[in-house]
Amino acid sequence: MADKATRGGGAAVTSEKAAGATSVLRPDQADMGWEYAPAPESREIVSIAPEYGLFVNGDFGPAQGSKTFATVNPATEEPLARVALAGGRDVDRAVSAARTAYEQVWGPMPGSERAKYLYRIARILQERSREFAVLESLDNGKPIKETRDVDIPLAAAHFFYYAGWADKLDYAGFGPQPRPLGVAGQVIPWNFPLLMAAWKLAPALAAGNTCVLKPAETTPLSALLLAEVCQQAELPPGVVNVLTGAGETGAALVAHPGINKVAFTGSTEVGIAIAEAIAGSGKKLTLELGGKAANVVFDDAPVEQAIEGIVNGIFFNQGHVCCAGSRLLVQESVAEHVVERLRQRLTTLRLGDPLDKNTDIGAINSRQQLDKITELSAVGEAEGARRWSPPCELPKKGFWFAPTVFTGVSQSHRIAREEIFGPVLSVLTFRTPEEAVTKANNTPFGLSAGVWTEKGSRILWMAQKMRAGVVWANTYNRFDPASPFGGYRESGFGREGGRHGLAGYLDV
Ligand code: NDP
Repeated sequence: MADKATRGGGAAVTSEKAAGATSVLRPDQADMGWEYAPAPESREIVSIAPEYGLFVNGDFGPAQGSKTFATVNPATEEPLARVALAGGRDVDRAVSAARTAYEQVWGPMPGSERAKYLYRIARILQERSREFAVLESLDNGKPIKETRDVDIPLAAAHFFYYAGWADKLDYAGFGPQPRPLGVAGQVIPWNFPLLMAAWKLAPALAAGNTCVLKPAETTPLSALLLAEVCQQAELPPGVVNVLTGAGETGAALVAHPGINKVAFTGSTEVGIAIAEAIAGSGKKLTLELGGKAANVVFDDAPVEQAIEGIVNGIFFNQGHVCCAGSRLLVQESVAEHVVERLRQRLTTLRLGDPLDKNTDIGAINSRQQLDKITELSAVGEAEGARRWSPPCELPKKGFWFAPTVFTGVSQSHRIAREEIFGPVLSVLTFRTPEEAVTKANNTPFGLSAGVWTEKGSRILWMAQKMRAGVVWANTYNRFDPASPFGGYRESGFGREGGRHGLAGYLDV
């Protein structure tokens, strides 16, 4: 995959306004007679180096052949830094450092001592949370209110939570003295860069494994800052290694004979390739892949709360969310009213500068992802669904896509079947609860679902019938480190979070 910098300007651009200017849009706000003042978060707190090395055995250094690639700010296309591109010899070095650390330091260390390091990392993440939030918004394009209030606090919470388990593994329900696996190779995506790193590293380290982490090519910076935090916490060298690079780096890592466990979050396509690549190797595997979740709204649902849940379900993080509620199933008798209220609500969303604290919708992470969203939305129209977006000017530079709602969607449409991974909602209707269940389960995925109704018995009935790893009731996109997360079918297998998340890193 080419880097973001090489991909040119945003195709969806319609405005003369420069990215970074105060938010965009909303003729209706002008009607109300006032406009939000700009509320930009300062980027001064972050110091981005011109170039970053690989983090191996406790130190930063160049990749073999000194190869690098660029990472850019997707909201402006401004290059942020050049980052080392790890090759095969770097993977060897990192795995060997992790093996030595496992055998000589981390594996033999009592759980109560390992816990202290995890607590330290959690506390440093909290102390440096503003720095992390700004950096993540710059490199990913997501709004600062999300990095500040969701990504970074949840990442710290995962380290706190698993620190608590490190000396209690005997009581985790896996029998006495469960053993770690050894070296874990962990490959993560670009949609929640720091949070996914925390989901992977915290349980692995608590269980006594050492790690080699490969962040996504378009969002390497927060993982590298986390590596700095590991140094600050005086984590022994080799316990955590960070290899930046592209898909080939990830492929070399998962295929390396020196690792015992592969943990992957990303597309179903790559997940399948990884499962094939390591079949028969004895490596333990967990896969957290794509989704096409149904968010089901019954006619007795509290409509205003449901509207907020629908908006949060699909427009949070620009819809770059594996568990996004991308298929809205509404009971026919209230469908018209719900869609009307939804449209009204969408006209109040603010799209623009990710560092503005009032921004609801930030930039699409890369030109490649923007192209995919644009293409699938065009297919939706061509297949006969009705497309609607609020009046919305997009910034001139960067990668942007307006919040989009398709009505008149049928189950066979590609926009109802494929993961778009963008701010695009497909609306379908149903008449009976049975029909809702049938439609909700009519997908190759099975990661998450939502149900909106005032009847507790119906919530329990739906939760039993819907084939999804997580079912949210009268809420959506709620995460807690104590709660397991993972899918069925093409959404993958294994669980992350909670006591269940330890199982993937123990020899059980
Ligand atoms: P990928 O699945 O390609 O990327 C996820 C991670 O895997 C990245 O670190 C990537 O590296 C790495 N990788 C790529 N190829 C291999 C390989 N053969 N072996 C090992 N690791 C590999 O996702 P994309 O970023 O390409 O996104 C494509 C689509 O996937 C999206 O449009 C979306 O639909 C879906 N997706 C789903 C996610 C989820 O959480 N369910 C997350 C991200 C994407 P690199 O970044 O360098 O390519």
